[in-house]
Amino acid sequence: MTNIRNQCSWVHTHEPDKATQKARDLIRMAVAKVALHEPLTEPTVQIKQTALVVGGGVAGMAAAKNLAGQGYPVFLVDKSDLLGGQARHLHETWRGEDIQQYLTGLIEGVEGDRNIEVLRGARIKEAEGFVGNFRTTIEKEAETRTLEHGVTIIASGASEFVPDRYLYGKDPRVVTGLELQQRFIDNDPGLREVNTALFVQCVGSRIPERPYCSKVCCTQSVKSALELKKINPEMNVFVLYRDMRPYGLREDLYREARFSGISFIRYDFDTGLNVAADGRDLRVLFTDSVLRRQMEICPDLLILASAVIAEKKNPIAQFYKVTQNDDGFFQEAHVKLRPVDFATDGVFVCGLAHGPKPVDESIAQAQAAAARAVTFLAAKQISVSGTVAHVDAAACSSCGVCVSICPYSAPRFNEKTGRAEIESALCKGCGLCTASCRSGAIHLSGFDNDQVFSQIFASGDCSTCAVSH
Ligand code: SF4
Ligand code: SF4
Repeated sequence: MTNIRNQCSWVHTHEPDKATQKARDLIRMAVAKVALHEPLTEPTVQIKQTALVVGGGVAGMAAAKNLAGQGYPVFLVDKSDLLGGQARHLHETWRGEDIQQYLTGLIEGVEGDRNIEVLRGARIKEAEGFVGNFRTTIEKEAETRTLEHGVTIIASGASEFVPDRYLYGKDPRVVTGLELQQRFIDNDPGLREVNTALFVQCVGSRIPERPYCSKVCCTQSVKSALELKKINPEMNVFVLYRDMRPYGLREDLYREARFSGISFIRYDFDTGLNVAADGRDLRVLFTDSVLRRQMEICPDLLILASAVIAEKKNPIAQFYKVTQNDDGFFQEAHVKLRPVDFATDGVFVCGLAHGPKPVDESIAQAQAAAARAVTFLAAKQISVSGTVAHVDAAACSSCGVCVSICPYSAPRFNEKTGRAEIESALCKGCGLCTASCRSGAIHLSGFDNDQVFSQIFASGDCSTCAVSH
């Protein structure tokens, strides 16, 4: 391919003569390269038609149920002894659907499904293999077991940030958003006695250590504020915020909250918020951004809308050769084109492990991940790319550079010969090892040395090395 549109027409619009000259060069280079082309063979890989789902929260269970419903055996592994993940602490969705009722039905469905083997209290010790042929070793009650599976769905979840300020953990009147949800679930009679409730938004989110928005907390606070008003219509309810972000149709909920008398106050984040226990009173001091005045509220319930946090350097990322972003959430291959895939084939992501999101979005994403997984499971075998690297064992000096540099762990040493070899099913043809091998032992099909040099020589004017060809 010679990309004249992008590399000539677009970037040199105002220099048509030079653009034409460059186009000629590019065509000459492409012809020189194609003359040396050799057929690429696409190896086939057998697919083990079984899935592993890591994480038994709502997303993991929804994905497992979806796959099992299509007839595929599923291993569902969770490190906890209880299924349900964070949803066990959620009362209702923003539309008022009963999450606990849904969760009970989902757990019963998963546990009663003969296609799903639930492995609670199990930790992943190691994983190896590639699309169609993964082998994951788990440890459960001091016993290890190796699971063979063709695809992996990572739904390992996230957790609520434990606040380290505002008297959290020191004064029982200070709770997190999830703790308030639990009190709704438990039908706590103490909530009827609350006279003034104050929500503080963005606790632990949108700060230098955690610059992202936790996305669920604004809607959850608005919903909880309405719930408190329902329990006791006389209650004074305030929400202190930096920006209110109940997105999409959730904005109707925000409007309803305003109409029902809940006060939303934007506070000056830079001057901060001071929470003190003064005698019997809890005193919250802040500067109102609109009035530019210091204000004080004395709540008897202070709810901190705490951030959603993920485990940084999660070992699961190492096991399945997938990436996490700087915040610890797993990163999809492409935000628009492959939103539930990883760059590593056969591994998918859904739920909180991918980023903060409410229950309904986690379920939708779990179904998307299951649908993508089925595209592999439904095939008994698949072809993998022919544009892969291979090692000339005679030239390999066993230095190990390729083994350490490959982002997909495709090269490894042959135990018998001591030379490197590359697993084609794992190789993405990125060329890193080819460029790094000091012995020139690695060849990348379609981009071999003679092809690359023939392009350079055909370009006519190699200004970088100042050699006239
Ligand atoms: Fe062999 Fe080259 Fe890999 Fe070193 S980098 S182990 S020489 S193939
Ligand atoms: Fe790994 Fe890239 Fe080399 Fe393939 S070409 S073995 S993906 S470094």
